[in-house]
Amino acid sequence: MLPGRGPNGRAARLARLLGTRTSWTPVGDGEFFCPGCGGDRNYQRLTGQRRFALLGVPVLPRGETGPVVECAACRRHFGTDVLDHPTTTRFSAMLRDAVHTVALAVLAAGGTCSRAALETAAAGVRAAGFEDCTEEQLAALVDAVAADTGRFTGEPCAAGLAIELHEALDPLAPHLAAPGRESILLQGARIALADGPYTPAERDTLATVGAALTICADDVHRLLTAARTPS
Ligand SMILES: [Zn+2]
Repeated sequence: MLPGRGPNGRAARLARLLGTRTSWTPVGDGEFFCPGCGGDRNYQRLTGQRRFALLGVPVLPRGETGPVVECAACRRHFGTDVLDHPTTTRFSAMLRDAVHTVALAVLAAGGTCSRAALETAAAGVRAAGFEDCTEEQLAALVDAVAADTGRFTGEPCAAGLAIELHEALDPLAPHLAAPGRESILLQGARIALADGPYTPAERDTLATVGAALTICADDVHRLLTAARTPS
């Protein structure tokens, strides 16, 4: 049978004449992590108008489609759930804030900060990306936190700090694999251990850190014990 003849050929010809065209309208833009080309890219958020097309000319509206997210670099389309993932830049900032907040919370739980604890904390915070962080800055922040929480509750590990920890860690936790979450807790443990064994307040704070990082209580206990044992 010659191509273009018979029932199949007729269907193919019809498909060429009739089809669905989608015209996309930009409804927003921003930056996202593109899973297609693997990096921080600009995107456009698009909604589509589907129309029946005759000879390539849109005729009848077929309703809305999308919205989709189009990568400015690779032009691929994705569901809008890709926007739930932070960009690399945003992720680094979240990580940096998390390490900084954990360091402050553990130092504040320790009461008066020893030099060793401050040095451990500042080194961790610098490594996480706040390159200018000094021991003095941390000490000043801890004093400010102590003055603040003392005013409200008079307790060393106050509700205010728990809220800070959850604000810094909750959004980060889903994007970190277990070793990443554990490493944040262990950094806190090392600060607590820099000036001797854990105090009850430090344990409380580290338990809050673990919970905010969605590490179960058993694992928190195991990690805190392991951190105490020199390797
Ligand atoms: Zn892309």
